[in-house]
Amino acid sequence: MKIQMLDLSEQYLSMKDEVIAKLDEVMSSSQFILGSNVKQLESDVAKYSNVAHGIGVGNGSDAIHIALQAAGVGLGDEVITTAFTFFATGGAIARAGATPIYVDIDLDTFNIDPSKIEDAVTDKTKAIIPVHLYGQMADMEAIKAIADKHNLAVIEDAAQAIGAKQNGKSVGELGTGATYSFFPTKNLGAYGDGGMIVTNNTELAEKASVIRVHGSKPKYYHHVLGYNSRLDELQAAILNVKFPHLDEWSNARRQRAAYYTKKLNEQLAEMIQTPVEKEGNHHVFHQYTLRVPNRDELQNYLKEHGIATMIYYPMPLHVQPVFAELGYKEGDLPKTEKAAKEAISLPMYPELKQADQDYVVEKIIEFYTK
Ligand SMILES: *Cc1c(COP(=O)(O)O)cnc(C)c1O
Repeated sequence: MKIQMLDLSEQYLSMKDEVIAKLDEVMSSSQFILGSNVKQLESDVAKYSNVAHGIGVGNGSDAIHIALQAAGVGLGDEVITTAFTFFATGGAIARAGATPIYVDIDLDTFNIDPSKIEDAVTDKTKAIIPVHLYGQMADMEAIKAIADKHNLAVIEDAAQAIGAKQNGKSVGELGTGATYSFFPTKNLGAYGDGGMIVTNNTELAEKASVIRVHGSKPKYYHHVLGYNSRLDELQAAILNVKFPHLDEWSNARRQRAAYYTKKLNEQLAEMIQTPVEKEGNHHVFHQYTLRVPNRDELQNYLKEHGIATMIYYPMPLHVQPVFAELGYKEGDLPKTEKAAKEAISLPMYPELKQADQDYVVEKIIEFYTK
């Protein structure tokens, strides 16, 4: 048996002819930069997120950086976020010239703990970046209340959470804006890099769309410092083929997650923590992530039996060497550090076979009961 974390080939085969026809259309049209496919996807993804504007950019990391800059965050400002995330969240804050302020997480959801945010607010704080980790939204109502009280922007890092909802509200609806990544392994993945900012805030949308074209408006006149970061037309064409399937894929992920949870809890409910979907949340399971004892030994055992797993993320951002000058030390964020030692993500993708899930579950149970 060999079971990968995800397998993108089956999905490609199911839509190969359509994708190739779309690519041919773009190449024949010679409209390679910000053409009709980018516009179409921007409009579809904005509507899907229940907001007015979508701005396609080069990748999900730039989406955060550009959204921060468009929200007026810059040198000397502080941005409150979680350290239990992919590097890009903290990286984008630092690239915008601001200082990331890391607060602890809620161990049930792995997301930022809103009750820790207010203590971190100073007169330099300009924004909060909640990360909707693994596909489940952070507690947006609580975060929005704090942001409103202190007049802060909220930029939702929704790289892993396109399609997620909370109490009927989409990603991007409560925040000042939200950012998506179309990195190939994300729930809506391109065949290369891509990203998007979605927002109801017209000023943010206008600024972001100028920043992505070198800050040029009108053309060749530069009032702000921008860069070259656009969603590629060929990638947008591919995403336009994939987008109509997104909800069906999210539902397939949810079904597979429910199956893992049921099977694992039949035997190991006392031993391991399966994912917690908070009431009111619609989790899209970008990752299916457990908290377990003897995590590294479990990972090795599964590897020996042909099962791939991943650790998202082994080293939280507050203790990353690149952020050493911020002065954090081990022990500052106990729940984040605990999660980094206990989290393990299992194979998860819409086409994952039930027989493969059964084998994964069997080997996990074997490890803890042998
Ligand atoms: C993938 C990811 C990003 C970055 O997206 P890219 O498109 O790879 O630049 C940012 N934040 C989180 C939480 C991610 O998972």
